[in-house]
Amino acid sequence: MKILVVEDDAELAQALASALRDQHMVVDVASSLREASDLAFGSAYDVLVVDRGLPDGDGLSLIERLRGARVHTPAIVLTAMIDVAERVRSLDYGADDYLGKPFARDELMARIRALGRRPAGRAQRLSSAGALSLDHEDRQVLVTSRPLALPRREWLVLETLLLSKGRTVHRQRLVERVYGEGEDIQSNSLDSHVSRLRSKLEAACAGVEIHAVRGVGYLLREAAGGERE
Ligand code: CA
Repeated sequence: MKILVVEDDAELAQALASALRDQHMVVDVASSLREASDLAFGSAYDVLVVDRGLPDGDGLSLIERLRGARVHTPAIVLTAMIDVAERVRSLDYGADDYLGKPFARDELMARIRALGRRPAGRAQRLSSAGALSLDHEDRQVLVTSRPLALPRREWLVLETLLLSKGRTVHRQRLVERVYGEGEDIQSNSLDSHVSRLRSKLEAACAGVEIHAVRGVGYLLREAAGGERE
């Protein structure tokens, strides 16, 4: 999952980002409305975490603008405003959930996972191809019934390709899914992740193949006459 955290309290933002990264999520952080809007309109996120009190305005206005532009990325609002009317207002502006500050980090994590599971974020919990099945919620990969351990970026590549099974996924989209904004990306590192992933899938007899589509990106499909049970 890819998350945008919009929070101007740098310490809180960093703590959230690192807790989310520990959960295998890709995280971008914005500290103002302006920065958040550039990111949110420019990249696909699974969940937005939006503080209301930002230096250049109310975080709700970002959600309102996104909804106006038919961007329905699930959003959870962080608010220090405790009265019920203010909380309801968050929902009126198109937020999917809200959490009053201060909050327990575990509770935020649980709500983010729940939002990421909603149909707007992702249609189903399990995806499969060949002998491979992937549990988006538990972040587990199984080949037949044996677990296959994958590092975070390989997992993200596999998840992205599997969700578009049989269709070419553009390189740029993979890069966006696998790396955070501003992360130093070496030109061939995506290819190295794909190539390691491919070897592991092959060694595990996963019954899927990852093809490079020259100049475009990658495509995952079930192996012809593959290892399907
Ligand atoms: Ca704030």
